[in-house]
Amino acid sequence: MDIKITRASESKIGTLPTDSSALGFGRHFTDHMFLMDFNREEGWHNPRIEPRRMLELSPSAMVLHYGQQVFEGLKAYRGEDGGVYLFRYNNNWNRMNRSCERMVIPTVDPAVVSEGLKELVKLDQDWIPKAEGCALYIRPTIIATDPFLGVRPSDTYLFFIIAGPVGAYYPEGFNPISIYVSDKYVRAVAGGTGEAKTSGNYSGSLAAQREAQQAGYSQVLWLDAKERKYVEEVGTMNIFFRINDELITSPLTGSILPGNTRDAVISIAKEWGVKVVERKISIDEVVAANDDGSLKEVFGSGTAAIIAPVKQFCYQDKEYQVGDGTTGELAARLYQYILDLQYGRVDDPFGWRERII
Ligand SMILES: *Cc1c(COP(=O)(O)O)cnc(C)c1O
Repeated sequence: MDIKITRASESKIGTLPTDSSALGFGRHFTDHMFLMDFNREEGWHNPRIEPRRMLELSPSAMVLHYGQQVFEGLKAYRGEDGGVYLFRYNNNWNRMNRSCERMVIPTVDPAVVSEGLKELVKLDQDWIPKAEGCALYIRPTIIATDPFLGVRPSDTYLFFIIAGPVGAYYPEGFNPISIYVSDKYVRAVAGGTGEAKTSGNYSGSLAAQREAQQAGYSQVLWLDAKERKYVEEVGTMNIFFRINDELITSPLTGSILPGNTRDAVISIAKEWGVKVVERKISIDEVVAANDDGSLKEVFGSGTAAIIAPVKQFCYQDKEYQVGDGTTGELAARLYQYILDLQYGRVDDPFGWRERII
C-alpha cells in the first residue's frame, strides 16, 4: 500500500522547551500523524500521513461508550552517531494484533504499519531529542468509530500513530520507587482483558492508583484477582524479584500484559548466566524473603522507565524496605545495558535494534 504524505505547512517544533529535562512524558507531540481507515468493504485502507490535527468523531462513536480500543507504546532513539534506532517494534505489532483479537478489532498488516511508523519518524526526525535518556515516544492506537449505541463490534475503525519527545525518566540518576500492595482492587482476571493493551484496563486502575498516592506511594502492586495472593504487575509495568541469585517473575497467566521489556530482561539475564524463573510468587513469600534477608532486589520493567527499582513496599499497613533501599546491582546493570543497546552504543547480539535513519 502506498502511503500518501501531506506535509505540515509550518513546524511547531519551536514551541518545545529548549531544556530537554523539561520535556516530561506525553505532553508534547510532533507535527504529523499516520492514519488508516477500516470498513467492511475495503478492509484497512487509505494509509496516509497528515499534519497532526483534532479528530472528528461522532459523539455516538462506539469507542466513547464501550471502550473498543487497543494501543501500543514504543520509542525511537537518537544514537550518539546521529542514527535513529527502533527496538523490537515487530513485537509491538504482534501484541497489538493479539489485543485486536481479544477486543474483536480487525488486525493490521505489520508491513503496512511498520512503513507508516518509519515514514512518520523520518518526517518528524527533528523532534527526536538528542540528550541522554530522551527519546521519541510513539503511540499506535485503534478506535471503534461506528456512530451506534448498541453493544457489538464496530464495523468501522481508525488506526493512528502519534509521537512526541519525552524526557529522561531519571534525569538525576535512578530514583527508586515505593509501592503499595492493593488487596482491595484488582487490575485484571484470567479470562478478562488484562493481557490486552486496551483502554479499560487503565481507567479501571485509577482508583487504586489514587489510593496508593494518597497513602504516599507512587505505584500499585497488583495481586491476582482470585486469591489476592500472587504478585502480578506493578503500575503499568511487569515485576521482577531477585531472591538470592534467582530472578523471579510471574508467568504469563492470562491476566498479565506480556511486556517487551520483560522479555528483554529475561533474555539478557539468562545470557548473563542469571537463573531466571517464571513462576507464581506470593506476596507472603516476598515478605518472608525480605524478613530473612534473601530478597535482594525488586524492580519493574516497561518501555517508559525501562527498569524501575523498588525501594520499599507497603502491605496490609506494614512497610518493608527492600535491601538497603537503594538501586540493586542487577537492576542497574540491566538498565544500563538496555539503554546502551537502544542507543546503539554496544553490539546487539540479539538482533533487536534497527537503524532507520
Ligand atoms: C505496556 C505495559 C507493560 C510493559 O510493556 P512493555 O512492552 O515492556 O512496555 C506492562 N504492563 C502493563 C499493564 C502495560 O500496559
